[in-house]
Amino acid sequence: IYAGGLGMLAGDHLKSASGLGLPLVGVGLLYQQGYFRQYLNPDGWQQERYPDNDFYNLPVTLERQKSGTPLLVEMEYPQGVVKAQVWRAQVGRVPLYLLDTNIENNNPPDRDITDQLYGGDEDLRIRQEILLGIGGIRALEALDLRPTVCHMNEGHAAFLALERTRLLMVENQISFAEAREAATAGHVFTTHTPVPAGIDWFPPDLVDRYFSHYYPQLGLTRHDFLGLGRMNPDDPNGYFCMAILVMRLANRTNGVSQLHGRVSREMWQQVWPQVPVDEIPILSITNGIHPRSYISHDLADLFDRYLGPRWVERPADQSPWRRVERIPDEELWRTHERRRERLVAFARRRLRAQLEKRGSGPSEIRQAGEVLDPEALTIGFARRFATYKRATLLFHDVERLVRIVGDKDRPVQLIFAGKAHPRDNPGKEMIREIIHHARRPELRNRIVFIEDYDVNVARYLVQGVDIWLNTPRRPREASGTSGMKATANGALNVSILDGWWDEAYSAETGWAIGHGEEYTEDQYEYQDRVEANALYDLLEKEIVPLFYERGRDGVPRGWLAKMKAAIRDHAAMLNTNRMVLEYCERCYLPSAERSQHLMADGLARAKALAAWKDTIQQKWEQIRIDRLWTDGPDGQEIRVGDQLQVHAQVSLCELKPTDVAVELYYGALDADGMIVQGQAIPMLIAQSKGEGQYVFAGAISCRTSGRHGFALRVIPYHEDMGNPFELGLVLWGR
Ligand SMILES: *Cc1c(COP(=O)(O)O)cnc(C)c1O
Repeated sequence: IYAGGLGMLAGDHLKSASGLGLPLVGVGLLYQQGYFRQYLNPDGWQQERYPDNDFYNLPVTLERQKSGTPLLVEMEYPQGVVKAQVWRAQVGRVPLYLLDTNIENNNPPDRDITDQLYGGDEDLRIRQEILLGIGGIRALEALDLRPTVCHMNEGHAAFLALERTRLLMVENQISFAEAREAATAGHVFTTHTPVPAGIDWFPPDLVDRYFSHYYPQLGLTRHDFLGLGRMNPDDPNGYFCMAILVMRLANRTNGVSQLHGRVSREMWQQVWPQVPVDEIPILSITNGIHPRSYISHDLADLFDRYLGPRWVERPADQSPWRRVERIPDEELWRTHERRRERLVAFARRRLRAQLEKRGSGPSEIRQAGEVLDPEALTIGFARRFATYKRATLLFHDVERLVRIVGDKDRPVQLIFAGKAHPRDNPGKEMIREIIHHARRPELRNRIVFIEDYDVNVARYLVQGVDIWLNTPRRPREASGTSGMKATANGALNVSILDGWWDEAYSAETGWAIGHGEEYTEDQYEYQDRVEANALYDLLEKEIVPLFYERGRDGVPRGWLAKMKAAIRDHAAMLNTNRMVLEYCERCYLPSAERSQHLMADGLARAKALAAWKDTIQQKWEQIRIDRLWTDGPDGQEIRVGDQLQVHAQVSLCELKPTDVAVELYYGALDADGMIVQGQAIPMLIAQSKGEGQYVFAGAISCRTSGRHGFALRVIPYHEDMGNPFELGLVLWGR
């Protein structure tokens, strides 16, 4: 029921939550067909099959009422009421509830809401997201579960933020603004992609069709409702973006690697047009993998013996991973070689089956039993065939690739797997290209494409390869997780500096292709050439020689040192135990606390905050910065170590000084005279001049040389706000 990394990550999140004992429940959709199953025709062109899932043979159980009848959730769609039943998959201690509209009482089009993942058009998509968001909350209500914090994993679930707000309105007889404060405090949002196709932008008339009955329930006009999801709330034609909706209704928002956090702050800066990019309230929490789910049994046995039981029993403890050094080289190598042999056997088996199904001749099928070499340096590449991931980069200069893989003494082989989205013809073209290359006699025994990539194929691959290859166009790969699965098994990553690798790479643990360059679309051909050559160079000069540099016992010591370093440095960090703990500490707990705080005493503080925001919004236009001066001449030279005293006279008019924070925004200037990576220095009231006029004073400590600048700014301040930019109001001085 998943397409790629996002689904795997969600599953791993639940597993780690279970391991850590975090009280969490998951909500999703149970698709009759899910994503498609892949096979290739003789030309290598991807074909799709959509077999039905048999829920009665899946590890799920139907949730029932006490009377024994299935628990049903009801939702209003414009064409009438749609009902959904609820299945439970128990993930250790964590239940995962999955909604399913394929029941007899529903009309056929409604039954199809949970038919396919990422199938259909926008209309189906919004119906699915209504079911997930609004239906999800109703399902939890029906199950008597009332979460304190809701984590929206990608924007698809964003409607839940509205439904929670509506519920608070109804129960407490309060306004949308008041309920919004209380609900928003308990919302966490994670954005998972900088690729536009991964984000929903619905046209306004489609939102009208499904929500015009809902606008009045929230007490909102059409304009105000649509404004919640528009980049510019006042643009009457703007599309309704699920990510923007939830960023405006979340207490915490994060990207999924350091780099992706940065990219997201740039990408969404227009949601907070007055705010400097470094201060856009989007955090970074790097993804991980659930180690036990991907580490081979063979290697896990070694870990049990040399790391001790704590690597499993104490998921929050990172210290056991330091003990990898204790594993004797020969043992680690023998274990790894065994996994490579299993992978080769698996690939041969799958290849034979594929050829049989395709109707290939007996000799071709016989040859399939002999492809690949269990002892050769094995490179894996498996992921969705989205074009930005550039699965065919390695074939940029086929002759050079042929020379590399065909070396008699130091052979190299490649195993590929991955699905292209059914409507992504360029992605399918890439698969076909690989299949055609793999037919060349020099490559036939060295390249295998395994059809129908799924978690089982993924496990064989990450557990058996020596090198995990990743070639996205930076910065499109928000995080990427398959490389983490590989590294936990001792495979070495060779990757563009994108996603998690940008922060985790070290020369000790793997290889970087390039130095983190970014290119514009018109340079893509050039980029491909440069990066393909960098990859060939790495293979020829570094990777292949190191792999085949053997001691007398046949063990590659240099390679093993890297394997151990990679496991030691990456396995502890890039795992979902660390990740879920980080979500806990940085998002769930602060959000739970803030929402409890706002909801206490009949939502007293939520109401007060909403009233205060209303006042601020009405009176903000009155504020003026009258004068700004320093205690020396303008443009003066200042020495490092000096302090610059700054004063500002501000007319707050009807607002009180406690309603605002007056700050100096200070930093080095770039060539355009803009402040880069500025820091905010608070100013304090020095004098009240009456009639709403105040003088504020502050001091800048000049710590570094060079050209610096500062700007004065006034922002709303209230101790109960989640972040200073919630209202998007900033008054900048010159
Ligand atoms: C881990 C995994 C992914 C995600 O891989 P990326 O490197 O993040 O693209 C996709 N599909 C399957 C089956 C996986 O196991």
